[in-house]
Amino acid sequence: MASYTLEGHTGTWEVVVGLEVHAQIISKSKLFSGASAAYGGAPNTHVSFIDAGFPGMLPVINKECVAQAVRTGLGLRARINLFSRFDRKNYFYADLPQGYQISQFAHPIVGTGEVEIELQDGTIKYIGITRLHLEQDAGKSMHDQHPSKSVIDLNRAGVGLMEIVSEPDIRSPEEAGAYLRKLRQILRYLGTCDGNMEEGSMRADVNVSVRKPGEAFRTRCEIKNVNSIRFVMHAVEAEAMRQIEVWESGGEVVQETRLYDPSKGETRSMRSKEDAHDYRYFPEPDLLPLILEQDWVDDLKAMLPELPDEKRARFCQEYGISYYDAGVLVAEQATADFYETLAKGRDGKLAANWVTGDFFAAMNRTGKSIENPPVSVEALGQLLDLITDTTINGRIAKTVFEEMVETGKMPTAIVDENGMRQVTDTGAIDEAVTKVLANNPDKVAEYKSGKDKLFGFFVGQVMKAMQGKGNPALVNEAVRKQLG
Ligand code: ADP
Ligand code: MG
Repeated sequence: MASYTLEGHTGTWEVVVGLEVHAQIISKSKLFSGASAAYGGAPNTHVSFIDAGFPGMLPVINKECVAQAVRTGLGLRARINLFSRFDRKNYFYADLPQGYQISQFAHPIVGTGEVEIELQDGTIKYIGITRLHLEQDAGKSMHDQHPSKSVIDLNRAGVGLMEIVSEPDIRSPEEAGAYLRKLRQILRYLGTCDGNMEEGSMRADVNVSVRKPGEAFRTRCEIKNVNSIRFVMHAVEAEAMRQIEVWESGGEVVQETRLYDPSKGETRSMRSKEDAHDYRYFPEPDLLPLILEQDWVDDLKAMLPELPDEKRARFCQEYGISYYDAGVLVAEQATADFYETLAKGRDGKLAANWVTGDFFAAMNRTGKSIENPPVSVEALGQLLDLITDTTINGRIAKTVFEEMVETGKMPTAIVDENGMRQVTDTGAIDEAVTKVLANNPDKVAEYKSGKDKLFGFFVGQVMKAMQGKGNPALVNEAVRKQLG
């Protein structure tokens, strides 16, 4: 693998990255209250007394959120801690009415795990997971709604979050991007987080440091709340370059919290780094420790859906398609399901070629999605059957497909209406070949004097004379025979 390095005037630098991802849990209600956890809604309509921090209110753990965290831990091949505990993380902010966040500090629900990532050149790498813990989300302060006031929407306050912390195993912007894409894919397959970074349901804190190859880690900076994979990749690069400049000019990188400004492509200091002791963590007195039964965890494990890595391996094996194509097809669960419905009982490679080729192209062109596809899986299946049973040839199939996209008609109807059936009648094919050769005596002479490349010209002319409907293998054979 070509490793990623940056060059400064003192030589080569390596980049070290660890990510803390906040993933909003998919659940009906919040982590410790019965208020709706749905995204959006009129401001401050999904708020219980608990979320609003009223004195004397008692949090009650939402079992489904716990199950979601366990499922996620299992999907990350991680250790599930049967004993975990909640802690209070104290800080003051207007969007945190309790004055503290209930989180897990010393005893997270999930311990070490790993995520397999694949780089552009096909290299496989494992990124270690340090831990996953449960915590409450905060509300949203908005500073652009009123000329002189800030307003607060507490709908998000108290929604369950999983904070997923990686080891500092990431070594390039590409690896950071691959890790986030893979993590999002796993969360979506599991149904534990929708991974929608634009709506803020998945956010990343990006820890970056640089070092000379072979050195111990140097001081890192943490870039807060980056909300797209592309920005994470840019932020890693921009921050690494800044740190190299600091070190090379004789300065020292100080540990701090920074913000990434996408419009400028640079990071800027936000505040000096806070340490755990700044938050005065202590065990949450209103909640008992969380104790899970191994049987319950085992049941959750038994019910897990097939995850992308397993599905990819199975697709290669069951349908005989390439590892690359299988990767494209499992990228989203809905695409994988579409493919599998199509491929069942058909030629798996033919199905993969059509889905990743003409079908994806049509989806992009029409702006449709896999949930609302440009052609139904039944219609595409019928088209493949027409190719396989030689009713139509591959080239005509493309024309039929375009008409399916445009009109929504089934392929058999299109083929019948337009008389597109493939001609396999060798008499008719021979006749067409004879005509083409008779009309091009000079080209025939050239061919016979050694210009082999003209073979394709004759085949093309015959196909054209037959409106593209000739069986390609039979046309080739007839041309060869008549040219002698
Ligand atoms: P904190 O809780 O103070 O943010 P952690 O030790 O939990 O600190 O680390 C947070 C993140 O920082 C982790 O994702 C970890 O991989 C990453 N990290 C730790 N040290 C470094 C380093 N020297 N360079 C880059 N990332 C680092
Ligand atoms: Mg942190």
